[in-house]
Amino acid sequence: MTYVITDACTKDEACVAVCPVDCIQSNDQSAMMFINPDECIDCGACASECEYSALFAEGDVPADKKQFAQVNAAFFQN
Ligand code: SF4
Repeated sequence: MTYVITDACTKDEACVAVCPVDCIQSNDQSAMMFINPDECIDCGACASECEYSALFAEGDVPADKKQFAQVNAAFFQN
């Protein structure tokens, strides 16, 4: 399992500050943060910090946001 960030993300990086394995990243070209599914340890700390309801456990991602699991993973395949 992993956690997934969706397009409600504002890049305030509150999640980044609490992630114990530093697996939340982005770049200047992207409008949102991304979680590396190969490194996420499923602790849930990030979701508690997100004020924008942008971040979900993979199994709890809303139906219209399911595609973001792949979007997050793809960021780390470059
Ligand atoms: Fe990092 Fe934990 Fe969130 Fe995974 S669930 S991205 S390890 S804070």
